[in-house]
Amino acid sequence: MAYDPNNIFARILRGEIPCKKAFEDEFALAFHDINPQAPVHILVIPKGAYVSVDDFAAKASDAEIAGLIRAIGTVAKQAGVSVDGWRLLSNIGTNGHQEVPHLHFHIFGGKKLGHMLP
Ligand code: IMP
Repeated sequence: MAYDPNNIFARILRGEIPCKKAFEDEFALAFHDINPQAPVHILVIPKGAYVSVDDFAAKASDAEIAGLIRAIGTVAKQAGVSVDGWRLLSNIGTNGHQEVPHLHFHIFGGKKLGHMLP
């Protein structure tokens, strides 16, 4: 799948659409999901233009990969979910039910989550 520079998260990164920001550094932006599925539901996205984990793993630099994973850890800690546990999820492609074609990780927490099965 080719990267669409006008996808909604690309537009959030460019500041064209507002978001409820949770964290930002040189590698990542984190913001609260517009339709939260848990008391804490934050999306963490890389600043670079990557469609999915597949694309990111193939093309991103080691610094970008490390930066995004570190940002995820920082966001979880700052959101207060690290103590009791949380869930990290990335939907990939059609079968994975990915809706927005810019790589994003969902952070869910703030309650005891159910088992996650397909
Ligand atoms: P996906 O199914 O993994 O691609 O999830 C896309 C997520 O983006 C969904 O949980 C949506 O609620 C969320 N979302 C879509 N548009 C916005 C927005 O403008 N701000 C914040 N979250 C959004």
